[in-house]
Amino acid sequence: MASVQEGLFGVTSQEKVLFFNSRFGAYFIHQSLLNKTDLSLSDVFRKPQLYEAFRRVLETKDTQKITVKLNTLIDSQARHFMISLTPLRRAKDQEVYGVIGVFHDITDIKLAEKIRIDFVENASHELRTPLTSVKGYLDTAQEDIKNGQYQQAGQFLDIVSRNVTRLIELVNDLLSLSTLDSNAELKLEMMEPLVISNQVVSELAPMAAAKNQAIRIVGQVPPFLADTSKVDQVLRNLVSNAIKYGPEGKMIQVRWETGGPRTVLLKVIDEGPGIPEEHHSRLFERFYRVDRGRSRDIGGTGLGLAIVKHIMEIHGGEVRVKSQPGQGSEFVCQFPVKNG
Ligand code: ADP
Repeated sequence: MASVQEGLFGVTSQEKVLFFNSRFGAYFIHQSLLNKTDLSLSDVFRKPQLYEAFRRVLETKDTQKITVKLNTLIDSQARHFMISLTPLRRAKDQEVYGVIGVFHDITDIKLAEKIRIDFVENASHELRTPLTSVKGYLDTAQEDIKNGQYQQAGQFLDIVSRNVTRLIELVNDLLSLSTLDSNAELKLEMMEPLVISNQVVSELAPMAAAKNQAIRIVGQVPPFLADTSKVDQVLRNLVSNAIKYGPEGKMIQVRWETGGPRTVLLKVIDEGPGIPEEHHSRLFERFYRVDRGRSRDIGGTGLGLAIVKHIMEIHGGEVRVKSQPGQGSEFVCQFPVKNG
């Protein structure tokens, strides 16, 4: 019983505790109760739901399953348990003399479920906004054309086109995340950091030129094992953020450095507005934005940094941000370099 991952305990029909395993003890038995000789159910639990289920087991002589939130000695927040209560029977005559409870801690499962529900809710909301706009402008343009009014149709179609581009970007980012979630395999090859940086920067150059920004690639590190297409995505997301959030005429740096004997650092540094400290810990969450309205206006999906974080983690590395309002931002990606 000691090696079972679930909490186990047995209690008689008169509510006297017969036994419990170490996991159950760690969850529910306070130090002060450990030496008590006749421990009863009420010394351990006060939850009415648990008592009801306990009585139902004795009445029906059948297993009961319940899901409840209970306070534990492990941490300060209540944890979710799936509890299975089964009659304890005497070997000789099968008479029920108590109940055995198996306490399965499902807090992590519940948390994952909540993250999934929130994600679907957020994604639906993000998709609905441009779709509503597309529908509205198409309906108006249709009506105008029916009435022989063509002056504004071009302008309306521009708005529709912008929103459709936004939808495509959103769906592409959602697909990237879903591919990373379901198949986190890396195609490792000897990657040339400067070659890949040049490619990404030249593709994003027109976007930077439109804001009169310059992008410089600096530093020198030897080729190392990484998934080129995924590092391309990391660079693309970080550099396009630096362009999007940076003001006109400023400089953006893509810097490669050796961070230690087995570490390569990629830094994307901008001279933009910076990010207040209180947002740093949440910045890499899906759909988290510092300024929701501004990010949407400039075409952000809210998923770019979540994708960067995911890619860095499957490389065995990490991404951090160093930034303060008015002082620009520096995103640092740390790649571990494997032997050989
Ligand atoms: P988005 O698509 O909104 O840019 P990201 O996940 O890429 O989503 O970024 C999350 C948020 O982090 C952005 O909405 C923005 O508020 C902030 N952010 C990201 N990069 C920068 C940057 N270089 N400078 C200032 N703020 C940034």
